[in-house]
Amino acid sequence: MNASLKPVETSAEAERSARVDLAACYRLADRFGLNEGIDNHLTLLVPGFADRFLLAPFGMHWSEVKASDFLVVDFSGRVVSGQGLVEDTALYIHQPVHRLSPQGRCVLHTHMPYATALCMLENPRLEMAVQTALGFYNDVAYDPAYNGLAFDESEGERLAGALGQKSVLMMGNHGVLVVGKTIPQAFERLYFLERAAQAQVLALSTGRPLRLIPEAIINKTLAQFLAGRAVGGRDRTELHFEALKRVLDRANSDYAS
Ligand SMILES: [Zn+2]
Repeated sequence: MNASLKPVETSAEAERSARVDLAACYRLADRFGLNEGIDNHLTLLVPGFADRFLLAPFGMHWSEVKASDFLVVDFSGRVVSGQGLVEDTALYIHQPVHRLSPQGRCVLHTHMPYATALCMLENPRLEMAVQTALGFYNDVAYDPAYNGLAFDESEGERLAGALGQKSVLMMGNHGVLVVGKTIPQAFERLYFLERAAQAQVLALSTGRPLRLIPEAIINKTLAQFLAGRAVGGRDRTELHFEALKRVLDRANSDYAS
């Protein structure tokens, strides 16, 4: 169907499909081992709003989050709708990033193992030594200043400042923050960041030096990525996210309920 002929979604429909996608995001992060216990948080600005976001109640395992479970939380920390607990660091990391980073309608914070392993190193840089990493060229910020838990919004503001205009923040001695304009875009970044970090950690574990990709080849490949961003008129990130949701659907997952 021609995209311009798509019926316009009402705000209720837009929020409903955002909830389904965010619930899928929690389930998929669990499926790929990107979560840590019941900690970490994935949030999305409510469609049509710039000052309130969807958050899973604290205490739920990511494997059980459903579209109907989300709290709507405003920037003062007030629960506008839904039932459950708002954990302090969820509010104090995500609220400032949503408020200060226009590229961050979707904000994902995880302690996913391989990217976090890089964040523990004196030099945490994601090296341009594998094709997957090239997608992050010039798009990763590094915050070396681990500051304890985020128990007030100044820490989230500091993190948003360190992120700047980029989509990835490697948080020293802690984990990662990944943002995107949409859930499929943000999840794609999260997933491939972990894959690139995994490849780097495995390569370094051999004890042999990395072979870095020359700048000219990086630039050529980035132009190719750009040219191939849509396939048959469909955005690659959306095709990936739809495929991943079908994996959940085949497992009879109840994430959409
Ligand atoms: Zn954390």
